[in-house]
Amino acid sequence: MRTVLITGASSGIGAACALELAREHKYRFLLCARRLDRLETLVQQLLAIDPAVETHTFKLDVRNADEVESQLGNLPAAWQQVDILINNAGLSQGLDPIQDGKIGDWDRMIDTNVKGLLYVTKYVVPMMANSEQPHIINLGSIAGKEVYPNGNVYCATKHAVDALTKAMRIDLLAQGIKVTSIDPGMVETEFSEVRFNGDKDRAKAVYHGLTPLSGQDIAEIVSFVLSRPKHVNINDLLVMPTAQA
Ligand code: NDP
Repeated sequence: MRTVLITGASSGIGAACALELAREHKYRFLLCARRLDRLETLVQQLLAIDPAVETHTFKLDVRNADEVESQLGNLPAAWQQVDILINNAGLSQGLDPIQDGKIGDWDRMIDTNVKGLLYVTKYVVPMMANSEQPHIINLGSIAGKEVYPNGNVYCATKHAVDALTKAMRIDLLAQGIKVTSIDPGMVETEFSEVRFNGDKDRAKAVYHGLTPLSGQDIAEIVSFVLSRPKHVNINDLLVMPTAQA
């Protein structure tokens, strides 16, 4: 059994990854996010797939460095070794030109997408020391490769994730840790609703005229990436809806 830690497991891509990997009966799950009730629902769904599945859930706000250190440092003994880290927690807030942008939105994106990913990685890497096949998967984005109108700060955070993925690959090479970036285009999750502060109509309008990816589409790719032999790493995968320019 390989232990996989998923940040932002309470929704969207993170939850879909847990569900997909549970179908393979090869993984046990450390699941974290801020919404514990959602994690409990996910655990019930995982148990329906595999009644023997092992899970441990805990509350984690990745923006809080002290909380990241203490929550990871105080995991039960049986959960202190990690094989796979999926750095998935992230968000976009607002879609405004820079001069109209809200500083609070900028802070939340930078603190979650960049600093949160760094904090979690810093404390999980030592937990991978005895792993047979350690692997970090970072959820980047097409927004980490290109910049689109009014995407300014979100795109900057995902460009930072792209740089950090490359940096991790170099820094963690000696420890044999694989590092993969998965960079989706539009995925229909709660992401768009979060971006528009709960405005469901505006969130839905984003997908007008195309079929977006689903969390499941990304989860199947994560499963494939994790199933490669020890000597094969998939460095970077850009995954787009066919109709997205
Ligand atoms: P969702 O909004 O469905 O899920 C985001 C997850 O991140 C939630 O589980 C949320 O959990 C968690 N999260 C947000 N803030 C924090 C925080 N401070 N601490 C801990 N967890 C947090 O969106 P997606 O599933 O679509 O997004 C997952 C990743 O994929 C993100 O990194 C996103 O940038 C990336 N991505 C998404 C795309 C899309 O179109 N959907 C496209 C490209 C990349 P909770 O609120 O319970 O803490």
